[in-house]
Amino acid sequence: MGLELIKNLLEVYKAEDPMAFQHPDGDPWEEFREVMRIEWKMDFTYRHVLGKYSKFFIELANGKFVTTKCKKCGKVWGIPRPMCADCLGITTWVELPGTGTLTSYSVSNFVPAFMKVETPYVLAVVKMDGADTHFTHQLRNWGDSVDNIKTGMPVKVAYATEPVEHPMLLMWFEPA
Ligand SMILES: [Zn+2]
Repeated sequence: MGLELIKNLLEVYKAEDPMAFQHPDGDPWEEFREVMRIEWKMDFTYRHVLGKYSKFFIELANGKFVTTKCKKCGKVWGIPRPMCADCLGITTWVELPGTGTLTSYSVSNFVPAFMKVETPYVLAVVKMDGADTHFTHQLRNWGDSVDNIKTGMPVKVAYATEPVEHPMLLMWFEPA
């Protein structure tokens, strides 16, 4: 028997000395350069707190799009920020109508498997009505061709009605 005992073995190989230029008298790690590479399936479950952003997701679940407005300078952030990035003032929650204008977008024909989404995946950059900055999220229901998508087109927030895997999936954009 031998290495065939390791079911998930990919290879055993000799790793190069990455700093050979600093070892003119020989590789001090010579005996440790024989390296095993394995395939290791990992399945983690995290308990993750959404912190000061929680209200954004709570209201999405209620079918409302809320964001934050700086109490000091009045700037309304498209993506909520507990603290204003311009003046460091603490913000307050405000409700927006959930409509906006598509200012830019990106079409992905390949996405990582963990995303569990259909391709083409369209990522939209939207100037939200009532906000001073943009919001980025998926654009869905754009029809039978990505050619239907045009910058400047009106879009609106759509809200999930089925249970989702992550609160961020409680919303997406659609043509208005
Ligand atoms: Zn501010």
